[in-house]
Amino acid sequence: MSTIAFIGLGNMGLPMAKNLAKAGHRVIGVDVSEANLAAAAEAGLERGASAGDAAAEADVVVTMLPAGPHVRGVYLGEGGVVARAKPGTLFIDSSTVDVETARAVETAATGKGFLMLDAPVSGGVGGAAAGTLTFMVGGSDAAFEKAKPVLEAMGKTIVHAGGPGTGQAAKICNNMVLGISMAAVSEAFALADKLGLDRQKLFDISSKSSGQCWALTSYCPVPGPVPTSPANRDYQPGFAVDMMLKDLKLAQQAAHAAGAATPLGAQAAALYQMLSSSGRGNLDFSAIFTMLRGA
Ligand code: NAD
Repeated sequence: MSTIAFIGLGNMGLPMAKNLAKAGHRVIGVDVSEANLAAAAEAGLERGASAGDAAAEADVVVTMLPAGPHVRGVYLGEGGVVARAKPGTLFIDSSTVDVETARAVETAATGKGFLMLDAPVSGGVGGAAAGTLTFMVGGSDAAFEKAKPVLEAMGKTIVHAGGPGTGQAAKICNNMVLGISMAAVSEAFALADKLGLDRQKLFDISSKSSGQCWALTSYCPVPGPVPTSPANRDYQPGFAVDMMLKDLKLAQQAAHAAGAATPLGAQAAALYQMLSSSGRGNLDFSAIFTMLRGA
C-alpha cells in the first residue's frame, strides 16, 4: 500500500480520497479551505500542513483542483510538489484543466525525473462517492502501469488515452459532444412544444429513431420521460451550467491553439454563457431547455 498526498478535498476530491483510504492506502489530505479539511479529518484522513509537506512524505500525489492556475501553482510554485517530492514519486492530476497546462506541468515534472499523468474524470460527485468514475489518462506507459491500482480504487473504467495531455483532450472532446447534443435535444423539445407535439410522444419516437442520444434518453431536459433527470427537480445539478461552460471554453481554447474548426462547439459555448449570464449558472446544464423555450 502507498502513502498518498491528496491535494484538493472539494466535492470530488474528498470522496475520492476516502475511497483511497478505504482501499488501505495512507492518505494525507491538503486543502486551502479549513471547512474541507475539517470534513476530511472527520472522515479519518490525515492532515498535511501544505502540498509540499504532504508530497515530501508520499509515494503518489493526487490533485483534484478547480482549474489550470491552481494546478500550476501546486506543482510548480515555490515549495510546491515538484520541489519537495521524493525521487520516483508518481503525480496524478485529476482536475479538468487546459491541455497546455497539463503538458507544461508534465514536462516540468518528468524533466526532474518524476512520473506524471493527466487523469481527468467523468461520473460526477455520485461516481466519486461510489468509486465508479471513468478516468481518461494521458502520459507514459510506465506512469500508467504504476497508477493503475491507485486509479482502480477510485474508478471503474480506466482508459489510457495516449501521451501527455490526451486525457484532458478526451475530456473536453467528450464534453463538447455533450454540450452540443443537450442544446440540440432541448431545441427539438422547444420546437415540438410550439408545433403541438406532445413531449412524451417526441421522446418515445426519437429515443427509438436516429435522434437517439445520451442527452435524450439518460438525461432528458424536459420533466417526465426520464424520472431521474434533473429536469424533474427544477434543474438542481447534476452537472452545473458553469461547469459545462468551463469545459466548453477549454475546448474552444484548445481548438484555437490547434487550428481545429469547431463551429458548433463555439455556438454551444455562447449559449451556455448566455444561460450563465442570465443567473442560471448554478442550475443543471440541461436547463438550457428553459432558455431555448423562452422562459
Ligand atoms: P471544488 O471546488 O469542490 O474542489 C476543489 C478544491 O480545491 C476545493 O476544496 C479548494 O479549496 C481546493 N483548492 C483550491 N486551491 C488549492 C490549493 N492551492 N491547494 C490546495 N487545495 C486547493 O471542485 P470539484 O467539484 O471537486 O472539482 C474539482 C475538479 O474536478 C475541477 O477541475 C472540475 O472541473 C473537475 N470535475 C468536477 C466534476 C463534478 O461533478 N464536480 C466532474 C468531473 C470533473
